[in-house]
Amino acid sequence: MQKTQYSSRSLVVFTDLDGTLLDSRTYRCDEAHEALEQLRARGIPVVLVSSKTWAEMEPIRDHLRNDHPCIVENGGALLIPIGYFPSLLSTTGGSGAYHIVEFGIPYVALRQALKEIAQETGLVLKGCGDLSVHEVAAQTGLSHAQAALAKQRQYDEPFIIEGSSAVSAALATAITNRGLRWTKGDRWHHLTGPHDKGHAVRYLIQCYRQAAADQGQHCTTVALGNSLNDLPMLAAVDIPVLVQQQDGSYEPSIDLPGLIRAPAPGPIGWNQALSSLLG
Ligand SMILES: [Mg+2]
Repeated sequence: MQKTQYSSRSLVVFTDLDGTLLDSRTYRCDEAHEALEQLRARGIPVVLVSSKTWAEMEPIRDHLRNDHPCIVENGGALLIPIGYFPSLLSTTGGSGAYHIVEFGIPYVALRQALKEIAQETGLVLKGCGDLSVHEVAAQTGLSHAQAALAKQRQYDEPFIIEGSSAVSAALATAITNRGLRWTKGDRWHHLTGPHDKGHAVRYLIQCYRQAAADQGQHCTTVALGNSLNDLPMLAAVDIPVLVQQQDGSYEPSIDLPGLIRAPAPGPIGWNQALSSLLG
C-alpha cells in the first residue's frame, strides 16, 4: 500500500466499527459506501477505533483501503503509519510499518486478574482467552478465521458474566480495586488497564492539531459510536455522533452536550450522519 502523509484537511473522523461503521450482524459496511467515498475524495482521514485486535484490524483497513492511524483493543494501542506525521518523534516503539503508542497493560496480567476477580466475587466469568476459536465464532457470528484473529489479544480481555448481562457493584469494585477498568461493547464486557478509547483519541487529536497548526490550519474532530465503550471517544471530540442500535434504540448511558443522534442503525446511520455533516 502506498504511504500516506497527513496533509491538513478541515475534518478528522474517528469511528467505532461493530454496530457503527459495520453492521452488527453481517460485519459489512456497504450502506456507508457513499459517505466513505465522499470522505476519500476530500482527503478526510477516517480513523478506525475499535475493541478489535491489531490482527483483526489489518484486513479491515485493507478492505476499506484505509491507510490512516488506527486504535485497537479499546485504546490499548495507537498505530500510526511511519511517515504519516513527519514531525512525530516521541513514540514508545515501532514495528515495521507503524509507530506504536501503547496505553494498555500486558494481556497476561488481565487474564490473571480476571481469574482472581472470579474467585473473589464468586461469579462465573468467561474470558475470550478461555474460549476456543469455535466458541468465539459462535458467540460473535464471526467466521472461524476472524475469530482466530480476535483471540490474538494484547491489551483487552472481553468477557461474559454467566447468568447476568450487567456488571454488579461487587464486580466493578473488584476490578477498580486492582487499578483496572471495565466497559461494555456490542457483545462483550471488557477488562482493560487504565485506558479507554478516549485516551488514545485525545493523544491522536493532539498529533492532528499539531500537524494542522504547522500548516497554519485548524482541524475539527467528529466521532461516531454506538455503545458504552464509545463514550470516552465521543466525549473527546468536537462533534459526537451516536448511531442507533439494531433495534432502533440508542445506548441509554450516552448523553453529551451537542450529541447528534443518527437517524438509523449501523452503517445506514453512519452514512446519513456523515452525509449531512459533509453537506
Ligand atoms: Mg460498537
